[in-house]
Amino acid sequence: MFIDKDRTFKGIAASSGIAIGKAFLLMEESFCLIRKEIPQSFREAEKKRFDDAIDKTRTEFKDTYNKINNALGENYADIASVHILISDDPTLRKDVYKLIADGVNAEYALFKVLDKIARSFDDTKKDNFFKERKTDIQNVGKKILSNLFGKEEKKLSKLDEDSVIIAHNLTPADTISIRGNKISGFATDIGGKTSHTAIIAQGLAIPAVVGLKNISTLVKTGEVIIVDGDKGEVILNPSQETLLNYKKKYDLQLAQSKESRKLKDLKAETVDKHEVSIFANIDHPDEVQIILNNGAFGIGLYRTETIYFNRDSIPTEQEHFDMYSKVIQQISPYEAKIRTFDLGGDKLTKIGSLNLGAESNPFLGLRAMRLCLKYPEIFIGQLRAILRASVLGKVKLMYPMISGLDELRAANAILNKVKEDLRKENIKFDENIEVGAMIEVPSAVAVMDLIAKEVDFISIGTNDLIQYTLAVDRVNENVSYLYNPMHPAVLRFIKCIVDEGHKVGIKVSMCGEMAGEPKYTPIILGMGLDEFSVSPMQIIPVKDVIRNMSFADCKALANKVMKLEDSKLILKELDLFIRKKEV
Ligand code: PEP
Ligand code: MG
Repeated sequence: MFIDKDRTFKGIAASSGIAIGKAFLLMEESFCLIRKEIPQSFREAEKKRFDDAIDKTRTEFKDTYNKINNALGENYADIASVHILISDDPTLRKDVYKLIADGVNAEYALFKVLDKIARSFDDTKKDNFFKERKTDIQNVGKKILSNLFGKEEKKLSKLDEDSVIIAHNLTPADTISIRGNKISGFATDIGGKTSHTAIIAQGLAIPAVVGLKNISTLVKTGEVIIVDGDKGEVILNPSQETLLNYKKKYDLQLAQSKESRKLKDLKAETVDKHEVSIFANIDHPDEVQIILNNGAFGIGLYRTETIYFNRDSIPTEQEHFDMYSKVIQQISPYEAKIRTFDLGGDKLTKIGSLNLGAESNPFLGLRAMRLCLKYPEIFIGQLRAILRASVLGKVKLMYPMISGLDELRAANAILNKVKEDLRKENIKFDENIEVGAMIEVPSAVAVMDLIAKEVDFISIGTNDLIQYTLAVDRVNENVSYLYNPMHPAVLRFIKCIVDEGHKVGIKVSMCGEMAGEPKYTPIILGMGLDEFSVSPMQIIPVKDVIRNMSFADCKALANKVMKLEDSKLILKELDLFIRKKEV
């Protein structure tokens, strides 16, 4: 049933395409805690139900402890042992029993007891130690409650028809678990265009709109919804007319994508024969076939950290190796730039002491290379796996978020040690493996001349470079209007990176979302960028623009806009340039 007037909500276009389907409202993890009266004759059974939940929780914590302990040693496993201790606490059990004996249901009894304990921490002292213990208790409580409820974690895989997910927020981990399920699109209250949630959606070619503020409070499961990932709009309960229009648009999109596929095998070469490389960004080995089908000539960014999502154990070296092998074997003879973990920021992991959820400013926190240097054990396992896999094809290694020479050298020192160990163990690897740095922190741009001399290639991570240059949180919809790739500061930085790279004869790539935005292609092409690494659905549109441009014209455009004072003037110039090409 459709209402007459469309309800259209404006958000941020996060992943292009149109999705039409039934809404599925994904609730935040919450438990409906209702006090129920348990009759006398059922109280023993209620106690037993509580005991079973505690036992299950303890077993899960012990399992986590063992996994972390095996992978990283005792220090790292400490957090799990604290959780085991709390779940073993006899007072906790006794207090819950007491309430059950008074006829209170186990869930409510546990909630009351935990609430009392947490409050006592509030009353004691407000230092970090107590805050952390309070969080530990809450975490343990949540786990026991979820076992009591028999509640499964949010499982998108349970959906059985093409659905549009509506949520307050989807984490990158949630989004990646969408893969292979019948989900046609999603819309969320919060998020920005270059959040990792949006990026993963692009990788999976799922239309998405984020930053809709309160969509999750307005939509009910089962309602018909359209997600327009190009316009950044969501239409709830569309009229028949709107629905028909969108169905036509959807069919047209399909037809156009078939037509543009003819470009797939052609080179990214301008009309005056300037050739650049078109690579793609991936998060998972399953995406390699998708990017090949879309005409990628290699992988410019493999975001390896996704192996940490949706699991509670540290991946082993062999697991990394297996993932990399799958990627390399499929992409050969083309190259794969494997980026070392960029965990942290909005890519959180809940594994043991790597529990990164607690930072108050995660994008400025323990992220990417900082995290790897702090926990070298994890980094070493990954480096060993990458090096071992390097004999299977053309592999390049790339470090994220290098802020200066210190970090680059520290990472290289670990890499050299790993190489030495492998040699001693007679394990083969590519002795000439190229090592590059992502440039995504302004301090790295300031010392670009120094960094360029010590790497084999550079890749510009504009998602972060823009975030850190303009001080705009990339996932915060409130400031998304300030996230501006055409800001003169951003363009000057990009030009500086390209020029410094070329001065020492190394290639400069761009793997941030800006590289996949066809309207920016003429400018960055004109600046001399060598490689574009883009999300799968952007390969053909970017290639199409390049093949219709003259490099000489693009260079002239780039020189012109570099002299302009603000982004409005720059965009005007760019519009003019594009319009001239269209006539
Ligand atoms: C970037 O920052 O532009 C980038 C490609 O890395 P990520 O999006 O994974 O942070
Ligand atoms: Mg980045």
